[in-house]
Amino acid sequence: MKYTKLFEKNNVSKLCYGTLSLSFLQNRDTLERKVELLNYAYEKGINFFDTAELYDNYHILKEFIKDKDRDKLTIATKSYAYDRKTAEYSVNKALKELNTDYLDVFMLHEQENGNNFLGHYEAVERFMEYRDQGVIKHFGISTHRVAAVRDSIKFKEIEFVFPLLNMKGIGIQDGTVDDMIDAIKKAKEYNKFVMAMKIYGGGHLINDAERAFAFAGNIQEVDSIAVGMSTIEEIDANIAYLENNELNINIKNKIRNQERTLVVEEWCVGCGKCAKKCRQGALTIIDGKCVVDMSKCVLCSYCAGECTDFYIKIV
Ligand code: SF4
Ligand code: SF4
Repeated sequence: MKYTKLFEKNNVSKLCYGTLSLSFLQNRDTLERKVELLNYAYEKGINFFDTAELYDNYHILKEFIKDKDRDKLTIATKSYAYDRKTAEYSVNKALKELNTDYLDVFMLHEQENGNNFLGHYEAVERFMEYRDQGVIKHFGISTHRVAAVRDSIKFKEIEFVFPLLNMKGIGIQDGTVDDMIDAIKKAKEYNKFVMAMKIYGGGHLINDAERAFAFAGNIQEVDSIAVGMSTIEEIDANIAYLENNELNINIKNKIRNQERTLVVEEWCVGCGKCAKKCRQGALTIIDGKCVVDMSKCVLCSYCAGECTDFYIKIV
C-alpha cells in the first residue's frame, strides 16, 4: 500500500475507502457483510475512510472501528452545517454515532465557491473552535466545482480540499478537467491537502478503470484518492491500480461487469424532490414522472435520499 502524509499524520493510505458505497442509499447488504469489507480493506493496508452525515452510515464505521487502534485510522466526514447550531449537531452526531473522541477531517459538503462558503461562515467559526480543542483535527470542503477549489486559497481555514476529478471531467459542474487540475495545482501551492473523488465518473469510466485510476494517481498534486468500493474484487483492483500491479483477468472481468445504473420505479409520482437535489441536472420531471439522463448522472445517489418511498435508486 502506498501511504501519504496528512499534515502531522504519517502513513495515511493514499487510497481512501469512500463509504457512500456501503450506505443504504447504494447498498442493501447486511451490516456484517459491510463490516467484513471494511476489515478486508484494512487488512490490505487501507486506513483512511471517508463518510458523511448524508450517507447515514456512521453505525457501520462504528462497528468496524470498535476493535481497532483509533489513532491508526483516519476518518473524514462532512455535513451541510450553516450555523453554530448545525455545526454542533453535525460534530456531536458524528462523534456519538462513530463512538470516537475526535474526527480527523471535517468538511463542508458540496461547496460551490467562496461566496457559498462565506454563507456557512458561522458554522466555520464553530468548526475552528472544535479544531482548537482537538475535536476535529483538520477542516475542509468537498465539491464538484472548480470555483470552490479555486476559492479555497482565499481561506486559511480550509486545509483539506476534496474535489471531483476524472479523466473525462464527468460531473465537473463549471469547467473542464484542465480547469480543475489548474485549480488543484493552485490549492496545492497553498498547502491544501487534496483528495480526488469520482475518478471513475460515477461508473461511466469503469470499462477503462486502470487508465482512469492512473490519470488521477499520476497528478502529483493529488495526495489521495477516495473510491467507493462494494466488493472484495473492487478493493483488490483499486489496490492493484494504485501499486501498478498486474490485475488478475478474472477480477478485471468482474469489475467490468459490475456496471451500475440509476432506476426510477414506475410508482414515481413526479413530486420533483429528487430532481431538486441533483446538482448535475440529470433528473427532469416529464409527464408526471422522473426521467434520468444517464450521460449526466455520476451515481452519487444523493437524489435517492430525497425519495421517502425509495422509488429512485442505484442498482
Ligand atoms: S422523489 Fe421519488 S416520487 Fe418524487 S419525483 Fe423523485 S422518484 Fe419520483
Ligand atoms: S441523478 Fe441522482 S445519482 Fe445521478 S447525479 Fe443526480 S443526484 Fe446523483
